[in-house]
Amino acid sequence: MTSDRERQHLALTRAAQLSSSYLDALDTAPVGATASLAQLRERLALPLSDTGVDPVTVIDDLARAVDGGLLGSAGGRFYGWVIGGGLPSALAADWLTGTWDQNAGLYACAPAAAVVEEVCGAWLKELLGLPATASFALVTGCQMAHVTCLAAARHAVLQRAGWDVHRDGLSGSPRIRVLTSQEVHGTCTRAIKILGLGTANMETLPTDDTSRLRPEALREALARERDRPTIVILQAGDVNCGAFDPFEASIRLAHAAGAWVHVDGAMGLWCHAAPELRPLLAGADQADSWATDGHKWLNVPYDSGYAFVAHPDAHRASMSHRASYLVHADDARDELDWTPEHSRRARGFATYAALRELGRAGVADLVTRCCRFAHELATRIGALPGARTICVPQINQGLVRFYDRRTGANDEEHDSRTDAVIAAINASGEAFFTGTTWRGIRCMRTSVSNWRTTTSDIDRAVAAAGRAIAQVALR
Ligand SMILES: *Cc1c(COP(=O)(O)O)cnc(C)c1O
Repeated sequence: MTSDRERQHLALTRAAQLSSSYLDALDTAPVGATASLAQLRERLALPLSDTGVDPVTVIDDLARAVDGGLLGSAGGRFYGWVIGGGLPSALAADWLTGTWDQNAGLYACAPAAAVVEEVCGAWLKELLGLPATASFALVTGCQMAHVTCLAAARHAVLQRAGWDVHRDGLSGSPRIRVLTSQEVHGTCTRAIKILGLGTANMETLPTDDTSRLRPEALREALARERDRPTIVILQAGDVNCGAFDPFEASIRLAHAAGAWVHVDGAMGLWCHAAPELRPLLAGADQADSWATDGHKWLNVPYDSGYAFVAHPDAHRASMSHRASYLVHADDARDELDWTPEHSRRARGFATYAALRELGRAGVADLVTRCCRFAHELATRIGALPGARTICVPQINQGLVRFYDRRTGANDEEHDSRTDAVIAAINASGEAFFTGTTWRGIRCMRTSVSNWRTTTSDIDRAVAAAGRAIAQVALR
């Protein structure tokens, strides 16, 4: 008979073995998925067991069943979307987070987790160049960081207009407008929907040919409907070209008009850690709130995002919650005062580990290395026959397009050529990319955010692109 304690030990040991062998195989395993939807369903959709299954069997079966259904995004040749890896200490701390199983909503419920988050907040503000007085929250991702920051913004701009949104809601309130650029990320739009601000109250302003918001367009928009409470959303690093809005000029204009400025810095805020990239963020520290991610560039496992608010009162007013059965701390941090969650994962441990493992120089090196690799990837693939770099990365995001080289081929044919080459690279298992439609044309995005990526990974990805181009041309 196996005791509960032995079963626990065996399951954890098994998980550690499976994890190590998974990570060791990343270099040789196909990067894309190899199992089909039907296969995955067949393997996973077992009848719900009546009597339960031994824990080690559960873990073994699970690992076997998902084989081929996992993308190699933890590895160095995954360049799709914007996906970070997991640093060794962050991954290990993430395991311990599950083991310790703290409910990090209140200091009283998880004292060490509360202090770790306090420290993470201070470290992050310093690294990202944000005011030391800003409040912060560790949330599930940049999406919820937007929701957190924009909830504070909604409260603050309506309070200035004499309206208490927490008491009276949005029905009958002054109509908030949101000014942003046409490159705004969909998660900002979603936060606006979630917060009841309404996408019809959003105005997407034109950008220049480097995808930066034109301050002139912002000035004109602000001059219209001057009495409406206004939120301006700026971007630090868009997903296609890594564009940074001109913060200094935009924030000056917005503040002169009484608007709240929120910065989507999912990737771009990390550029503050690297001195040569820091100028891209000039003036961004003057904003009212900022959102970024831990699970992208910092290489903390999912789920990890960070919200920062320059006005702690507005932040706290929009999140804080009291109940007689809870125990509230006087001098410690109760996370539920700052997050849109109640019971929550002690996600600070993984961030704490990542920041300690890397240190200031390590974060700077991770950021510059990813930028250098993204540059190499986009320019070397763009130099292949039948390819062109459409956006040369200034940070870790770029665009490449593939051309149908038959005479008279049109844009539509170049579009399908681009999609076909992406599909052929992915099918080769050597690397993984995703596409986008940018200014009306299909492109392949080259996004590098993983600490594991090496020069040899870039060589392999470029070689795979060369083979894919030749293979598609022969069809
Ligand atoms: C990824 C991303 C987001 C959303 O972040 P999640 O962590 O996926 O919620 C927002 N803005 C930009 C620019 C992003 O790249």
